[in-house]
Amino acid sequence: MQISLKGQVALVTGASSGIGRATAQAMAAAGARVAVNYRSERDEAEKVAAGIVQAGGEAFAIKADVSSEPDVEALFAETVKRFGAVDIVVANAGLQKDAGAAEMTLDDWRKVIDVNLTGQFLCARAAIRQFRAQGRRDVSKALGKLISMSSVHEVIPWAGHVNYAASKGGISLMMKTLAQEFAAEGVRVNAIAPGAIRTSINAEETEGEAGEKLLRLIPYGRIGAAEDVANAAVWLASDLADYVVGATIFVDGGMTLYPEFRGNG
Ligand code: NAD
Repeated sequence: MQISLKGQVALVTGASSGIGRATAQAMAAAGARVAVNYRSERDEAEKVAAGIVQAGGEAFAIKADVSSEPDVEALFAETVKRFGAVDIVVANAGLQKDAGAAEMTLDDWRKVIDVNLTGQFLCARAAIRQFRAQGRRDVSKALGKLISMSSVHEVIPWAGHVNYAASKGGISLMMKTLAQEFAAEGVRVNAIAPGAIRTSINAEETEGEAGEKLLRLIPYGRIGAAEDVANAAVWLASDLADYVVGATIFVDGGMTLYPEFRGNG
């Protein structure tokens, strides 16, 4: 069975690297036209878009800070101007600013909540407004699809990362609330919760000795690749997942299976 997103337009935030890049590429490989959002890595984003075009697809790179309301409005407006519609939004942009909670600055707390949680809200709101404005299109059973990039830390507490864990915990109920609120209109809202995926956000934790230690937390025995997450995103965006509403797909090699209990507890 081949997954096709032909005729659809996908907007992927934070797509100049890591999971966002792989998701943009995978959406394009499935036939979608892709808006490749970046905040500061212009060259990288242009490379992602150029690679898609070279492979016969359609894509363009577009700058926007997802925590800025006017930037997000402009991001959607420009995507509609270029491609005529938005059918799939992957709210993927995210960051970490780690510190013990007692030492964490208010700035670092706010920065992570602003980008990871408020940024996803702004993208979700813009997506829903756009889905409503454009109405039913012939390209998908749903009016529109929204995919939130969460984390296993929406359920696993994470000492030293209280801002990040709070942002992902917030995403979990934001996603479910949006799914409940807009399902009747035909909007499918879902999330992906990646485990340990090798990207720049966690380069120090996934290489060398730290990487070996990390493997103890992953029953499936390997650190994930960005493509593992991208494949799930393409499936969630497709009509094959048309009855999947308000779900979080854990793509984590079993990290959320309480691996400490493998040896009979
Ligand atoms: P990454 O650092 O490669 O990607 C994050 C992207 O978000 C970068 O391109 C960055 O420029 C962009 N970004 C940051 N702030 C932004 C802003 N204000 N506006 C627009 N873009 C912004 O790391 P990644 O691992 O690919 O992370 C992607 C998402 O996956 C994040 O939401 C992250 O929390 C989530 N995640 C990653 C892992 C993992 O193990 N790598 C695990 C769970 C969840």
